[in-house]
Amino acid sequence: MSPAIEQNVDLTKLNTFKVTAKAKEFTTIKAEMELLQLADYLAQYPEQKFLIIGGGSDVLFSEDYDGLVIHNCLYGIEPVGEDDDFYYVRAASGEDWHSFILRTLDANKPGLENLALIPGTVGGAPIQNIGAYGLEVAERIHSVEYFDLKTRQKKALSNEECDFGYRTSIFKKPEMKDAYITGVVFKLPKKWEPVINYKELREELQNCHAPALYPTDIYSAVVAIRKRKLPEPRKLGNAGSFFKNPILSKEDFFTLQERAPSVVAYPMAGGRYKVSAAWLIDSAGLKGIRMGDVGVYEKQPLIIVNYGQAYGEDIVAMAQDIRLRVKNYFGVKLESEVVIV
Ligand SMILES: Cc1cc2nc3c(=O)[nH]c(=O)nc-3n(C[C@H](O)[C@H](O)[C@H](O)COP(=O)(O)OP(=O)(O)OC[C@H]3O[C@@H](n4cnc5c(N)ncnc54)[C@H](O)[C@@H]3O)c2cc1C
Repeated sequence: MSPAIEQNVDLTKLNTFKVTAKAKEFTTIKAEMELLQLADYLAQYPEQKFLIIGGGSDVLFSEDYDGLVIHNCLYGIEPVGEDDDFYYVRAASGEDWHSFILRTLDANKPGLENLALIPGTVGGAPIQNIGAYGLEVAERIHSVEYFDLKTRQKKALSNEECDFGYRTSIFKKPEMKDAYITGVVFKLPKKWEPVINYKELREELQNCHAPALYPTDIYSAVVAIRKRKLPEPRKLGNAGSFFKNPILSKEDFFTLQERAPSVVAYPMAGGRYKVSAAWLIDSAGLKGIRMGDVGVYEKQPLIIVNYGQAYGEDIVAMAQDIRLRVKNYFGVKLESEVVIV
């Protein structure tokens, strides 16, 4: 049996940038067994390009998609065991990320609260190893399950095999282009400890006068900061941080520091430095700029926003302009965090 394929489907509601784009072909996956039919279909049309989409919160459609868009709607959350140190919980890849965090908190299995309110799906989280407020999801992942659309095999990768790094993982590599992530097994610590190494989070928690700190305090603080600082995609189209923070060698960082003594950066393992891309964009005078319906968000210069009817190509042009200006000012190359399709 072939999967149900629709033609010329509007993707505006399936991307948080809210840009208008059409998919030449479109299908929805609601059960893992449908992946076999999908693999058969793709084998029949080997030239056909395809794109798996979850919450569409990390993609930018620069034009109509001349291939098959596969909307991932695999649902289900279940405990899958425990040992002395961890509870193990499996979530299917189509589950909404923030709702999943709420479910784990309700079940008294905290550990993900620093990552609250990040849009998207559970399946999207390991791909770029989402991170916020001092925590990366890699620290809570036991394994990632996927179905290989080429070999039709179901596989699981351990945390180490996922090769997580700063906003990256093995799933970003070309050799994993046929991997359809079906589920993620999380390891949630039985001895919970708050992750409060992030300055802004600590400051927010100072308003919380309770004698002890609970996971829900961290959750509420993260939600409060994010609501204050970040544009709500339903109101203002965006995909979160457009650029990654550049990572520089010690030598390159010192050269930059000579040029810009007040540059904001954080030392990393191996003597490298992670430079604040927000600082670079702000200091290049780009915060709040606007070209038609595209702009750099005035409260957070890492975010490009769609004020109304922007086209994907307008957003790409704005990103290119930011990249050029930052390179000219500081000699630093900005890389996109958002997947440009
Ligand atoms: C307002 C806002 C705030 C954000 N804040 C943060 C933040 O604090 N930290 C952070 O790290 N990110 C942040 N993001 C980015 C984004 O929310 C995350 O990267 C999220 O995990 C993307 O998930 P998604 O389901 O929307 O992925 P999508 O955008 O649908 O897809 C992203 C990529 O993953 C692939 N993909 C998706 N699902 C699958 C699957 N099942 N199998 C294989 N490939 C798949 C897609 O093909 C695409 O290449 C933010 C975005 C917004 C809009």
